[in-house]
Amino acid sequence: MFKSWSELEQAIINCRKCLLYKTRRNAVPGEGSKNAKLMFIGEAPGAVEDETGRPFVGAAGKLLTDTLEKFRLKRSEVYITNVIKCRPPGNRDPRDEEIENCSPYLESQILLIKPLVIVALGRFAAIWLLKRMGYHCQGIMKCRGRVYKGLLLGLEVSVIPTIHPAAALYNPRLRPIFESDLKLAIEEMALKERKIPSSKPKAKPKSLLDFISLSARKDHN
Ligand code: SF4
Repeated sequence: MFKSWSELEQAIINCRKCLLYKTRRNAVPGEGSKNAKLMFIGEAPGAVEDETGRPFVGAAGKLLTDTLEKFRLKRSEVYITNVIKCRPPGNRDPRDEEIENCSPYLESQILLIKPLVIVALGRFAAIWLLKRMGYHCQGIMKCRGRVYKGLLLGLEVSVIPTIHPAAALYNPRLRPIFESDLKLAIEEMALKERKIPSSKPKAKPKSLLDFISLSARKDHN
């Protein structure tokens, strides 16, 4: 298990644990706040991500960023990564051995960030997360839109599976589903933050999350 971000990111960038290193242009470790309360996990980098070394920067990533902003949450406030860190050729599905080899990196990222809520973007992330919490996902449309609470790698988290933003991008009828699942995740994060005593001074609300959190605290007091 990696103890520091620099060690972890260097290991991913130089990794040759599976054959995907041969066809990648760049490994894509992830990006965002390393103190994030909310974490997003997708499947694998696509073409633009492979080219830039950044996660979710293509058209599907723009939909994710825009949806976050619709709920007044900045992309820089969350952490975004994938189950595997290198692009499978032709965007094929990740293979079991690739997921197995790459999993220690994602496990370390979760343990370093300690998020309160994780959104699984698509089937592969949902299966990866729910299996480790003792749940079974029988397809993303069956398990999406619900809050799964439990222990993940010894951390108490809530996991909310939803469709991959690429699915919402190419089928606009699925966008309300994607939006309502993200709203659910943001509300769950606000609920969990409410239970954590904060020593920080009260700040003027800057985002929907801040607004919900502050309102919740006021209700409580
Ligand atoms: S996909 Fe993961 S295990 Fe495979 S080479 Fe990339 S970083 Fe290493």
